[in-house]
Amino acid sequence: MNTMHARRYAAIFGLCLAIVLAGCKSGDATQGPAAGPVVSAAPKVLVQMPDEDTPAPEKTGGFDGKRAFADVAKQVDFGPRPSGSQTIAQVQDYILSQLSSASCTADVDAFNAETPAGQVAMKNILVKIPGERPGIILLATHYDTKKLDNFVGADDGGSSTAVMLELARLLCAQHGRYAVWIAFFDGEEAVNREWKDPDNRYGSRQMAATLAISGDLPKIRAFLLADIVGSRELRIKRDSNSDKALTDLMWATAKNLGYSGVFVNDPTAIEDDHQSFSARGVRTVDVIDLEIPYWHTPQDTLDKISSKSLAVVGHVFVETVKQLQTK
Ligand SMILES: [Zn+2]
Repeated sequence: MNTMHARRYAAIFGLCLAIVLAGCKSGDATQGPAAGPVVSAAPKVLVQMPDEDTPAPEKTGGFDGKRAFADVAKQVDFGPRPSGSQTIAQVQDYILSQLSSASCTADVDAFNAETPAGQVAMKNILVKIPGERPGIILLATHYDTKKLDNFVGADDGGSSTAVMLELARLLCAQHGRYAVWIAFFDGEEAVNREWKDPDNRYGSRQMAATLAISGDLPKIRAFLLADIVGSRELRIKRDSNSDKALTDLMWATAKNLGYSGVFVNDPTAIEDDHQSFSARGVRTVDVIDLEIPYWHTPQDTLDKISSKSLAVVGHVFVETVKQLQTK
């Protein structure tokens, strides 16, 4: 995904990197005294546990924030997970095994994407929970991580995938008026460093095209995307590239649940997987906090993830789906 902010941040980060490469010391407070050479940095203390004040599932519509946190930890344990890698195959297996344990029915679409690095094998995973009437509520995440050195994407790739897995555990046991489908996209990230169409959103473009051919696309009543939703100081702005009425519904739901400090009214403009569907006339909304200081850096690690934030986002998704089921 991308915004002007993100581009600016990437530029600042690039400048910092240039300074470091030029031999300047970083401002890291853990560095030793200036008198001698720095042999090794002090070991970082990583928080690897869910937050103690994570609301219980009974308080968040059945969504278990601690279990979602464990799903982030599992993904991070695999290491960097770019499209076409050995490690992303482990994530695919993990997602499918968890879906199977939850008695979810899932389709796998394996395809080859044409990228600047040549053909890359990718897989979309789509959970299908039947409804009583025609109409689909589509929830989505991407599970690939950007190909960068030492980048494990706890928040960017990990957090939203964990939210969707936990939603699947909850929703696969339920049947509503409309079908609920949950998409796990491969290939959201640009293969090149810069985000420039069409080098991004490979998985979501593939699924939107496939659903257009099958005739399912016009049945999608709402497309709700989550991406980067796990930070401790989560602030999700209203995306101007999302559908206004759907954004209003989701933000009103969040406000009613007492989460207006997380789902804030400030505007932003996001380029992300939802655009593959909005370009085809589907009503979409993107739930994302792209203003994290560790975006696309090796600092996107498990210690940045709050199980409480995962629970808040999960709760808002659960209640928004309930709202959409009544319409
Ligand atoms: Zn990313």
